[in-house]
Amino acid sequence: MGHYPLSNLKIAAILAIGTLILSFLAPIDPPEKDSNDTFSLALPIKPDTSASADSINAWPENNAEAGASPPEDPLNHARTTYVILQDDNLSNVFAKLDFQARDLQEILQADGSGALRRIVPGNELELTKNESGQIHILKYEVDPLNTLVATRLTRGFVIETIEKQLNIVTAHRAASISAKLPSLYKAGKKAGLSDNLIMELANLFQWDISFALDLRQGDKFSLVYQEHYVDGVKIADGKILAAAFSNSGKKHTALLYKNDKGDATYFSENGESLQKAFIRDPVHFSYVSSSFNLRRLHPIHKKVRPHRGTDYAAKKGTPVVAAGDGKVHEASSNEASGNFIIINHGEQYITKYLHLSRFARGIRAGKSVKQGQEIGYVGSTGWATGPHLHYEFLVSGVHRNPKTVGLPNAKPIPSTELQAFRLQTSPYLEQLAVLSREVDKDTLGSGSKTGK
Ligand SMILES: [Zn+2]
Repeated sequence: MGHYPLSNLKIAAILAIGTLILSFLAPIDPPEKDSNDTFSLALPIKPDTSASADSINAWPENNAEAGASPPEDPLNHARTTYVILQDDNLSNVFAKLDFQARDLQEILQADGSGALRRIVPGNELELTKNESGQIHILKYEVDPLNTLVATRLTRGFVIETIEKQLNIVTAHRAASISAKLPSLYKAGKKAGLSDNLIMELANLFQWDISFALDLRQGDKFSLVYQEHYVDGVKIADGKILAAAFSNSGKKHTALLYKNDKGDATYFSENGESLQKAFIRDPVHFSYVSSSFNLRRLHPIHKKVRPHRGTDYAAKKGTPVVAAGDGKVHEASSNEASGNFIIINHGEQYITKYLHLSRFARGIRAGKSVKQGQEIGYVGSTGWATGPHLHYEFLVSGVHRNPKTVGLPNAKPIPSTELQAFRLQTSPYLEQLAVLSREVDKDTLGSGSKTGK
């Protein structure tokens, strides 16, 4: 019992001391002291008052112009278009534009698709009022192809989606790799290809061509592809129907073939599969520093000692992918190689990846990996002067150039379908040939132009 008063006292004492401390601290805050700098910073009142003064000034002016009636343009009154902003939802848009929450409720109720609950920034809303200021029609551009329309009925709203006509047009492009345009990306951009199309083109030939290291001046490519148009405006690229890439004088062709079942797959001119057991670049070409720079670096490297691999110069942290399906044999580190990974691909093939900054999650000895799967990240661990991937490819224990070694292919086109394949793809082949000749002419043409 006797303990309680004591502890109460203690609490009272703590509170008293606390108040004392607070009252000591308090005088520092009020604006009576001498530090002028802190004052002006701590007083946002000033700009506020001036701002409100401004708006007060502005008001009578507006009212004077518009007279007694509210200053509204009769056209705006009827119809408002609104481009959706980053953090918008329909309810704050309605509030902003001064539409009724009840209309919003009824429209959302009628919208079975849910499209209006996840409006997308950049898309457009068009709202039409009736005389009572209620929504008469709401139009929402779901995507370039589809527009949702909500129309007021005597009770609630009816919602329909209007789909525009999609026009698919076949287009073609061709370009060549030159000193001025030394990469697929640069040459592709110059030829008017979208980023997506460039990536798809590279994907088609990723088993045959090293876009990171093997491009040469005079390499050329042509492709026939689809473009999607709505109301005369291009909204997207469609599929690549056919593509050809001449790399160091060797021509590679990819032709899209659709079988009776509707499956569409790319094959070479002879009906062979484009997919192979190994992709050429374990680092995506878009990350790799210019191949021309690398070639300048390479001879030095080669003279010092026999170089049994391929170097990909890329920023630290760039993803490194498995060149083929396989099993991780080793993922560890030593003084020379730094962090390295060795992958076994069946009995014969081994790939090695050196100087990694780190391994990808879950990569360790015994793990199975898929072609294209991220296994680690470019670094400069071990004996490396700068961040790069040192990549080795071994066949039956011997270092080989993955470019020149014959690699097992995936299944070719069934012989029973070869006839259909040729029939379907020969028009595109012809088109590619024409395009290829045009590129040659262009290259010659621009050459003679500068000569004149
Ligand atoms: Zn190396």
